[in-house]
Amino acid sequence: MTRVHNFNAGPAALPLPVLERAQRDMVEFEGSGMSLLEHSHRGKVYEAVHNQAGALLRELVGISDDYEVLFLQGGASLQFAQIPMNFLHAGKSADYLLTGVWSKKALSEAKLLGKSRAAADTSKDGVFTRIPRQDELKLDAEAAYVHMTTNNTIFGTQWHYDPEVGKVPLIADMSSDFLWKPFDMNRYAMVYAGAQKNIGPSGLAVVVLRKDFLATGRKDIPVILRYDTHAENQSLYNTPNTFAIYMVRNVLEHMKAQGGLAAVEKLNREKAGLLYGAIDGDADFWRCPVEKDSRSTMNVVWRLPSEELEERFVKEATKNGMVGLKGHRSAGGIRASIYNAVPLESVAALVEFMAAFRKTA
Ligand code: PMP
Repeated sequence: MTRVHNFNAGPAALPLPVLERAQRDMVEFEGSGMSLLEHSHRGKVYEAVHNQAGALLRELVGISDDYEVLFLQGGASLQFAQIPMNFLHAGKSADYLLTGVWSKKALSEAKLLGKSRAAADTSKDGVFTRIPRQDELKLDAEAAYVHMTTNNTIFGTQWHYDPEVGKVPLIADMSSDFLWKPFDMNRYAMVYAGAQKNIGPSGLAVVVLRKDFLATGRKDIPVILRYDTHAENQSLYNTPNTFAIYMVRNVLEHMKAQGGLAAVEKLNREKAGLLYGAIDGDADFWRCPVEKDSRSTMNVVWRLPSEELEERFVKEATKNGMVGLKGHRSAGGIRASIYNAVPLESVAALVEFMAAFRKTA
């Protein structure tokens, strides 16, 4: 078996022990005579997996009973629409902190449904290289909610402070840095994440919602799009993505066995430190466009002196067993996504390759 060093932005690397466990479970799950894929979502066997996934998430993050944990379909993008559908009430306006492509998409959806505005925007000519400072946030104290994107997958920026938003409910899209470190759920009315970067396969969104906020959701929208529908039915209103939830359960169990989120953070910081160290250590050649205090620990982006060299870098890296390094088409350059499941050895191999490439460039 040859597994490459996987720097894909999402779907992305999964922990090898989690994949091997799924392989063992694939044909017959825990002596039940069939694969988990073949089990009814209403049966006891699947129900145990479903409940474990939620319980593990609560345990790892420290989520209190004031919150609901939901497993929904439609990825994070459906949340862009579902949030304003539920919480952008007539006569109210929502604040969006624009820090990249995904937060802009979230705002565009809200604009179709009600009044909403950018309460921060640090872009220049469509390019984001930093997170706004607290004093740059132009917040509306009466807003229905504030929406932020904690990590910007394409531009490689990440919030490293918790914005102060007063009494307004704070909603965070954590798709590309969910569970990269411990965080205080009590600061948020809602967080959500597409699973396919840090915690599992695509096609699943993990949504955590404070119950009192959830209760304010509109009731005059389609039942399937109401959060209370899914909360009342323990995310089993309709057939959920059972396999993705099973994979998330396994990833969370793996994270717990690693020592929980504090251990995950330590390793992530080590990986990011190693890669940024290599980039900054040869700043005449590599150039990270992101301001230092806004740099992402998950998606590291950088440029080479020319697009020709960037193309060659990606090609030669692929030949050396390192994939997924081409920057997003809207940003260009190189991007290494070093999510939770990317091992330190992969980052070390990349840094070694960079040094060798530099000598031949
Ligand atoms: N938010 C962020 C921060 C993302 O990176 C992505 C996907 N790259 C999305 C939302 C959209 O997720 P999905 O494809 O699951 O709808």
